[in-house]
Amino acid sequence: KLKELVREKGLLAKVELCEEDDGIRIRKSGCHGFCEEGPLVRIEPDNFLYIRVKLEDCEEIVNQTLIKEQPIERLMYKSNGKVFYAEEEIPFYESQTRLVLEHCGHIDAESIEEYIAYGGYQALAKVLDTMTPEEVCKEITDANLRGRGGGGYPTGKKWSQALSQSSDIKYVICNGDEGDPGAFMDRSIMEGDPHNIIEGMTIAAYATGATEGYIYVRAEYPLAVARLNEAIKQAREFGLLGKNILGTDLNFDIHVNKGAGAFVCGESSALIASIEGERGMPKVRVKRTVEEGLWGKPTVLNNVETFANVRHIIMNGAEWYKSYGTKNSPGTKAFALTGNVNNTGLIEVPMGTTLREIIFNIGGGIKDGKKFKAVQIGGPSGGCLTREHLDMPLDFDSLKKAGAMIGSGGMVVMDEDTCIVEVARFFMNFTQNESCGKCVPCREGTKRMLEILEKIVNGKGTVEDLNLLEELADTITNTALCGLGKTAANPVVSSLKYFRDEYLAHVVDKK
Ligand code: SF4
Repeated sequence: KLKELVREKGLLAKVELCEEDDGIRIRKSGCHGFCEEGPLVRIEPDNFLYIRVKLEDCEEIVNQTLIKEQPIERLMYKSNGKVFYAEEEIPFYESQTRLVLEHCGHIDAESIEEYIAYGGYQALAKVLDTMTPEEVCKEITDANLRGRGGGGYPTGKKWSQALSQSSDIKYVICNGDEGDPGAFMDRSIMEGDPHNIIEGMTIAAYATGATEGYIYVRAEYPLAVARLNEAIKQAREFGLLGKNILGTDLNFDIHVNKGAGAFVCGESSALIASIEGERGMPKVRVKRTVEEGLWGKPTVLNNVETFANVRHIIMNGAEWYKSYGTKNSPGTKAFALTGNVNNTGLIEVPMGTTLREIIFNIGGGIKDGKKFKAVQIGGPSGGCLTREHLDMPLDFDSLKKAGAMIGSGGMVVMDEDTCIVEVARFFMNFTQNESCGKCVPCREGTKRMLEILEKIVNGKGTVEDLNLLEELADTITNTALCGLGKTAANPVVSSLKYFRDEYLAHVVDKK
């Protein structure tokens, strides 16, 4: 049906496109991930990757590479005297496993034709043709796809729970409200492969009986908003959204909802309140979102990266998916690698990959030959990991044990010169600013913690202040209403645990 549709619309498959088009096409892709070396230009079919390209290089690229088919070495990545011609051979890419980022940087993000030509919407066609909603839920459950937004809740279980609800209306929401400082994975997927999210959401709609979907994106991501809107428009034109999708009984449409940039709107009840037109504040939930979510109806809420995994599982099966990652955390994880590392950028690795592999192989080590000190993982809700964690496999459970969390996947690398107390103060300042103020422990507690951290950073703190920090952290974690407050103290707690000496060096009594 999909092929028929493509032909009806006068479009050709990928190979036919190449054969019929003997000219040169310039395409605007999404992010390639190798931010440190951008702007990047990829030449196909040779797969040359030109780095740090300037406007004045364009004429040479056209004359030398596009017309004479010669590479330009001066624009290519070099390491230890070696020139890397193909993108895939560059160590930054070679050690990655790119599933959800597969299309980012490789296809025209504004073209549904290209997405289809690269196998897009085949998973949707497959579930509509050959699977029942129960079978889709089972496949996702068997794959043990855990929510990539931070908590790691099993997606298949969530979908099955929503399917079992009887309701005239059900909703699917995609959380694209990525607000962690240093995180841009979801943004890159929304900008680079928007149809992938639409396909994942539509499969979720079929699996759960939903008829309407929302993508909640922060307004600070205007390109993501524009590309999602364009992709939705194209999908409607192709009969892949709206009524009777691909000639079946499935009716499902998606709207983009722009958030105003409040970090707390990443929390599910605040996000739902925001879509409903209320102030984005968390609520005390008596029932789960799958029972009573948007406008009191059963709702499936997953984040961008979770939806981006769906089509791979449907096309290749749960067993294939579980061949990546660890037993309890299968699949891959995208991380935004930032801070004092040579190769900053967007990466994707199998769950269970070690920090050493990420920082020293993919990341190319610490900048200016300095020593590695720590990495803040999971943004302001996460924790810091140190040298002793370099060989720990990164997955949901091991990180939790170490007092950190994957969170959305922000990874800020720190070198030996970084003041860990200042980092803890930075994250507490962020969380305190973003606290919605609804509950006392978070509203007052984070303010008091920030005051103490500022006192310590300014050399006026005491040992008693360190104890007070721990006491406050414990109270806030155990009594705050939502996830923002419950995890707000994590950066302080983990840095105090691993770098207490550094805190002590700042205080006046130093005992
Ligand atoms: Fe608001 Fe913080 Fe309470 Fe969450 S924990 S409801 S962000 S005050």
